[in-house]
Amino acid sequence: MHVYTTPLTTRFRGLDARDGVLLEGAAGWGEFSPFWDYDDAESAAWWSAAREAADLGWPAPVRTHVPVNVTVPATDPERARSIVLASGGCRTAKVKVAERGQSLAEEIARLEAVRDALGPGGRIRIDANGAWEVDEAVSRLVHLDRAAGGLEYVEQPCADVAGLAAVRRRTSVPVAADESVRRAEDPFEVVRQDAADIIVLKVQPLGGVRACLELAEQVGLPVVVSSALESSVGLAAGVALAAALPRLDHACGLATSQLLVQDTVDEPLLPVDGAIAVGRPVPSPASLEATDAARLAPEVARRWAERVTRVEALVASTAKTARDGGGAA
Ligand SMILES: [Mg+2]
Repeated sequence: MHVYTTPLTTRFRGLDARDGVLLEGAAGWGEFSPFWDYDDAESAAWWSAAREAADLGWPAPVRTHVPVNVTVPATDPERARSIVLASGGCRTAKVKVAERGQSLAEEIARLEAVRDALGPGGRIRIDANGAWEVDEAVSRLVHLDRAAGGLEYVEQPCADVAGLAAVRRRTSVPVAADESVRRAEDPFEVVRQDAADIIVLKVQPLGGVRACLELAEQVGLPVVVSSALESSVGLAAGVALAAALPRLDHACGLATSQLLVQDTVDEPLLPVDGAIAVGRPVPSPASLEATDAARLAPEVARRWAERVTRVEALVASTAKTARDGGGAA
């Protein structure tokens, strides 16, 4: 088990650094890196994803490359433009909106700059991370759709499923569900309420590549695979999911290795001509050394060791309960 830590190039999700655990098993390396606001029970799914990668590996791919989007944070137009131009040929941009303290005019200027940098053939999606009320979302979308020259979709415009459904009925912009799938008690509520055109799947919080493939099949909506800001060991699982989906109509949010100052592998999963080649980079002694939390941040290494012990015990006891329950039935 290796605990890694790296600074981020841009503050993200309130974080200046990213850390997690890499484990090596018979099938290869897996990553366990739930954010610290996930409790042990929520982290169990992330543990399953890491064990799947290390012990089983992933289903066979049906494509060799996965198209990916560039992510544009809630920044000024000049920086937005340069991020798109430096993206490794991405033809889709995901633009963050609904940032606290920013005006509609700032969002419009950002979207116009992104459209200008992408050209007319590119796709633009926006992510509000659940920040809007329904009326606010509907009125903003009119302006933002126009500024972008047409939006591919809006991701999680409102916090709850009923809000997504209401926005979807009142706008022509397609709606994607992210938090409403990943952190929901019941991901099928989105389907029952007819609340989304697209679902966003993330491998770790949903318990692995196989669990995501099953969920995608049951939900029956187009899928966008996104990362949880993992190192390339964890990103490879997202790429494996995107590569194994029977249908992939949209670029995926997997080009996030750029946000890490130091990745855990020597050749990070980065896009070329807007796509990531399907593959599984392996950490080297040098890349492990360069990210070694035991050396760089011993306190972080200690917290992860404790967390792994707790989550592993929780997963084992849940499995035992399920077995005993199954036996009694
Ligand atoms: Mg999102």
